[in-house]
Amino acid sequence: MRIAIIGRGLIGSAAARHLAEAGHEVVLIGPGEPANYASHPGVFGSHYDEGRITRGLDRMPFWSRVSRASIARYRGLEAATGMRFFTEVGTLMAGPDGSRGIADVADVAKRDSLECARFDAKALTTRFPYFQFESDTIGYFEAQHAGHISPRNLVKSQGIAVHKAGGRIIDAEVDGFDEIAGGVTVHFGAEHLTADRILIAAGGFTNGLLSDALPLKVYARTVALFEIGAAEAQRLTGQPSLIYLGPNGEDPYLLPPIRYPDGRTYLKLGGDVIDTDLTSQEARKDWFRSGGSAEVGAMLTDHIRARMPELEIKSTHIRPCVTTYTPSDHPIIDLLSERVAVAVGGNGKGAKNSDELGRLGGEAVLGRVAPDLALAASVAA
Ligand SMILES: Cc1cc2nc3c(=O)[nH]c(=O)nc-3n(C[C@H](O)[C@H](O)[C@H](O)COP(=O)(O)OP(=O)(O)OC[C@H]3O[C@@H](n4cnc5c(N)ncnc54)[C@H](O)[C@@H]3O)c2cc1C
Repeated sequence: MRIAIIGRGLIGSAAARHLAEAGHEVVLIGPGEPANYASHPGVFGSHYDEGRITRGLDRMPFWSRVSRASIARYRGLEAATGMRFFTEVGTLMAGPDGSRGIADVADVAKRDSLECARFDAKALTTRFPYFQFESDTIGYFEAQHAGHISPRNLVKSQGIAVHKAGGRIIDAEVDGFDEIAGGVTVHFGAEHLTADRILIAAGGFTNGLLSDALPLKVYARTVALFEIGAAEAQRLTGQPSLIYLGPNGEDPYLLPPIRYPDGRTYLKLGGDVIDTDLTSQEARKDWFRSGGSAEVGAMLTDHIRARMPELEIKSTHIRPCVTTYTPSDHPIIDLLSERVAVAVGGNGKGAKNSDELGRLGGEAVLGRVAPDLALAASVAA
């Protein structure tokens, strides 16, 4: 079958790989990362970064399952494509003892028999001396099959695998599509192509291709990058990814030192406390072009100074991103018509598990939709 996948991000490129490896004629269409955000007139993606936390532990069984399925394939994909994207430094989830968030983590670890060690506040200080925690904190440390991935390199790796399996990649933004007798015509610039079926995986910009048909919320997000020097990077060797589950539902997350394409090393902190819904394509583009929120950046800077008081920060930078939420907190991976499918809704955590979400997207476009991921399941939630 000839299948066009719209969106060359984490989910779309994974779907393209799975479908190409299954023997389908695959065309993956989407633009790359813009060189200059401020002047870019087109769409953006949520994977323009070097660090995304990965872990099997998740409060929701669905997310834990798809994450573990994806993580189990990381090393094989790296070996097959020669592109490294996984750094296995482990992930620590911490929070106040007795709070809902950390109790859920303990339950999930038990339910899914996930190997993770429990640390009380004193043991946390000994094992992770660079972090400062409140005296009632406990933590669960997943040392293996967890840490962080480079989303940019994961997309590259999937692209290499698509080519190896005989798929085609087109660097273009799709303007729209028409369902015609026996197929779907996809338009991009002055060109078009026809496929038997299409899968739309355009992240926060998906509704722009669907006249806002899906019940998605696209939230503005700001992250802060803290540059450190070589001595600091050396001191922090082995630092894991950290998610702090606060008592009021806040969950700031911190990536350990990672070398970025500019040759410098940064820690990254995210965790907006206000959800600003970007309700139009232009609002989403404007948000990326704006460079992010200075106010959130200041809040994140205060937070890192409290969590890592000894950190020697050389410079601080903020970056914009968006996260796409569904009513059910599960992605929507469904057929919208006989020939048009969609795979969208990372709900703020769709990078680590994107390989499995892409595989499920491939299944959906072939007509095999998982009932809990259908649009109806999301609307009913
Ligand atoms: C700040 C931040 C931190 C995050 N941290 C984590 C984390 O630690 N761990 C984790 O697991 N997840 C994390 N996430 C979530 C994760 O990055 C997203 O869930 C994931 O990127 C979603 O993948 P996607 O393929 O749906 O979207 P994207 O990765 O955004 O890909 C969509 C692609 O579609 C393309 N596109 C859009 N419109 C069109 C069009 N008209 N034609 C063609 N192509 C189009 C875009 O160019 C883009 O490449 C984070 C997200 C953000 C914003």
